[in-house]
Amino acid sequence: MPAKARKAAAEPAPRNDREKSVDEIYERIYVAILEHRLHPGTKLGEERMAEIFGVSRARIREVLARLAHEQIVELFPQRGAYVAKPTTEQARDVFEARRLIEPAVLKRLIETITPDKVNRLRQHTELEADAHRRNDKRAVIRLSGEFHTLVAELAGNSALARSMRELCMLTCLTIFLYDAPTAQSCRNDEHERIVDAVAKKDRARAEKLMLDHLDHIEGSLKLDNSNGDADLEAIFK
Ligand SMILES: [Zn+2]
Repeated sequence: MPAKARKAAAEPAPRNDREKSVDEIYERIYVAILEHRLHPGTKLGEERMAEIFGVSRARIREVLARLAHEQIVELFPQRGAYVAKPTTEQARDVFEARRLIEPAVLKRLIETITPDKVNRLRQHTELEADAHRRNDKRAVIRLSGEFHTLVAELAGNSALARSMRELCMLTCLTIFLYDAPTAQSCRNDEHERIVDAVAKKDRARAEKLMLDHLDHIEGSLKLDNSNGDADLEAIFK
């Protein structure tokens, strides 16, 4: 009995146990943006967020600062935090950065490829195909972004993986803002072909497929509004 009592005393109080960490709250917001449930330009009020997650405003501020550092959230003095609304110029910058980084990521992945890594990639593209079949749009959007982050993680360079995570998130916000009605985020069959080339260690083909893939995504967006203004005619007609 004494041992049991000691164990009980050592356990954290249930409230602390439930209290969300900065990482957990960050992840919840991250996924909500990835799944297009949280829109660009949404105000993330400290007090409301603190209430929703049952934590202090200081903890929410910490999460918001981290998201702001990654350009996912914009902080305005007096007005507070908002989900970022990348301009068309920023959107083009994101694609330019991805064209430089993703071939380098693939090169490193192919140099270090193992059957286990190929399996992880195939499992992921199967999840994507399954989400397509179920027509689960939220899962499709999230999984297609996560494919690129997974490729970077498996490549084994943590700095590249971190950059990819941020760039994927910004791409996601961009797709949300500038998606043409007919566009898709990532085409699942293109991911599958990239994985095939990686499995064959065909670096030239993998890189070419990735660059074509990025062209397709960027090409499906309406980034020709030079000032990034909303198309009011289309909205109100
Ligand atoms: Zn993709």
